[in-house]
Amino acid sequence: ASVLEIKNLHVEIDGKEILKGVDLTIKQGEIHAVMGPNGTGKSTLAQAIMGHPSYEVTEGEVLLDGENILEMEVDERAQAGLFLGMQYPSEISGVTNSDFLRSAINAQREEGDEINLMQFIKKLDKNMEYLEMDPDMATRYLNEGFSGGEKKRNEILQLMMLEPKFGILDEIDSGLDIDALRVVSEGINKLRGQEFGSLIITHYQRLLNYITPDVVHVMMKGKVVKSGGKELAERLESEGYDWIKEELGIDD
Ligand code: ADP
Ligand code: MG
Ligand code: MG
Repeated sequence: ASVLEIKNLHVEIDGKEILKGVDLTIKQGEIHAVMGPNGTGKSTLAQAIMGHPSYEVTEGEVLLDGENILEMEVDERAQAGLFLGMQYPSEISGVTNSDFLRSAINAQREEGDEINLMQFIKKLDKNMEYLEMDPDMATRYLNEGFSGGEKKRNEILQLMMLEPKFGILDEIDSGLDIDALRVVSEGINKLRGQEFGSLIITHYQRLLNYITPDVVHVMMKGKVVKSGGKELAERLESEGYDWIKEELGIDD
């Protein structure tokens, strides 16, 4: 199985250190949740892994099976088997969702081994049905006029079509109504298995009622300060974060 290791990751935005040495290891087959108060660096972690140019890694590494992905271009990271939610420009005009998905799949494959069109369409139809998506979503231009919920569903559709080794999902649950949340969670649960690992970043425990994480990490002030099982998320839901601050002697 593949392993994704985040080691002593330090990240700055505009010269200000946001991540102060994040350590985290995920094995394929596992779902990890990252929780934490607002402004603690959760999105920064996702952005740094996805190679957003505003986020400067000053120390540490992110290894996919021993290879430092921070030295790769963004498309190489995808080819190596990482799915980074929202790595794509939010709106691309003139490219349909279906065309985009097909070229994203083919970009991961060797030349001459492109996905068969019929196979692609079958897989797309099946996954869209599973996600309760309007068939029109396939032929609409990528993200143009997609509602918040449609964008999230579409992100899970990308995940189901690309079948990456690891998916990094930031706030996949934000702004979703309960039906969309259920569908999005079912999509992730369907991918769950030996071939898929995920880092699910969320501010709310709500999502974790639908997706049971194998490991829960708490981030505070730019570091992972505590890890545990799903009961950790339950305790955070009922008690908030103060007890962790007390336990670890963190002041605001
Ligand atoms: P979280 O996702 O945990 O809520 P973020 O990673 O979004 O936290 O933000 C961590 C810190 O970095 C916050 O203090 C935030 O104000 C700051 N920050 C995030 N993005 C930027 C940016 N583009 N420029 C300056 N500061 C930023
Ligand atoms: Mg350090
Ligand atoms: Mg965030």
